[in-house]
Amino acid sequence: MKFADLHLHTQFSDGTFTPEELVERAHKLEFAAIALTDHDTVEGCARAAAACAAVGIDFIPGSELTAEHADTEVHIIGYLLDTENKTLLEKISVFQAQRQNRIYEMCAALNQAGIPLKAEAVFALANCKSPGRPHVARTLVKEKLIGNLDEAFEKYLKKGRVAWVPKTKMSALESIALIHQAGGVAVMAHPGLNRSDEIIPALVEAGLDGIECFHTKHSTVMAERYLMIAEKHGLLVTGGSDCHGFSKIKPLIGTVKLPYEHVEKLKAKAAERNAKSAGWKK
Ligand code: AMP
Ligand code: ZN
Ligand code: FE
Ligand code: FE
Repeated sequence: MKFADLHLHTQFSDGTFTPEELVERAHKLEFAAIALTDHDTVEGCARAAAACAAVGIDFIPGSELTAEHADTEVHIIGYLLDTENKTLLEKISVFQAQRQNRIYEMCAALNQAGIPLKAEAVFALANCKSPGRPHVARTLVKEKLIGNLDEAFEKYLKKGRVAWVPKTKMSALESIALIHQAGGVAVMAHPGLNRSDEIIPALVEAGLDGIECFHTKHSTVMAERYLMIAEKHGLLVTGGSDCHGFSKIKPLIGTVKLPYEHVEKLKAKAAERNAKSAGWKK
């Protein structure tokens, strides 16, 4: 049997591995295919693709876009998109700039609360265009302003706490269109985490192609429910560990193994979409 992990993060967003370290782990775990799905960026894809090619792993470029629909945060993953697509890059650069502004806002709120954390220290640690709360938490730990990551979230960063700053999100419908115009396949990530089943029909209506049924935080019962929903709407099935490296005690890569047939279906969908759009252009 061949397996894939289609949900992975690196240092290009809030993971701790470089693309090369991630691919090395995937290779040791004998994955046949992996996807890189860093938040609001595609920057790591070129390096991950090169590392995968060197060890014979099938690489799927991707990005996990932060979006919202009906006041619910949803993550829409674009797979097999053109990582040099101009419209995609322009749009995600706006969200990256907003993520960077948010770091200043979170640090200002922490300073107000008497915690002397400098945004520059967070940027130095994050060293990426898509910084987020995990980088603030890690910097707080590094500067010994808090004991550990969980405490940082619990005390300062989670919703409603002093340094919580909401993220500006694109509409989920727009994110699906953005992925499609870049030649990609749009998949709803971890629906079980957002308790957002009621918005699925609207996303399907907007062209959603798939749903992440298998995820570290989905129970078996949840996975079965989403498999049924996928079947009902004729959606692709995906899955992945959502590994962020050592942000957890143990990296999650290897805990979710998606049968390779789903990768083939994903590729067929992208090929079908691109054949259609090529037809339109003629
Ligand atoms: P952001 O996109 O900046 O809002 O940050 C979201 C990230 O923070 C996600 O990748 C989560 O894995 C991580 N996160 C959220 N809550 C916690 C928590 N309590 N402990 C550790 N990480 C968390
Ligand atoms: Zn993340
Ligand atoms: Fe997510
Ligand atoms: Fe993720």
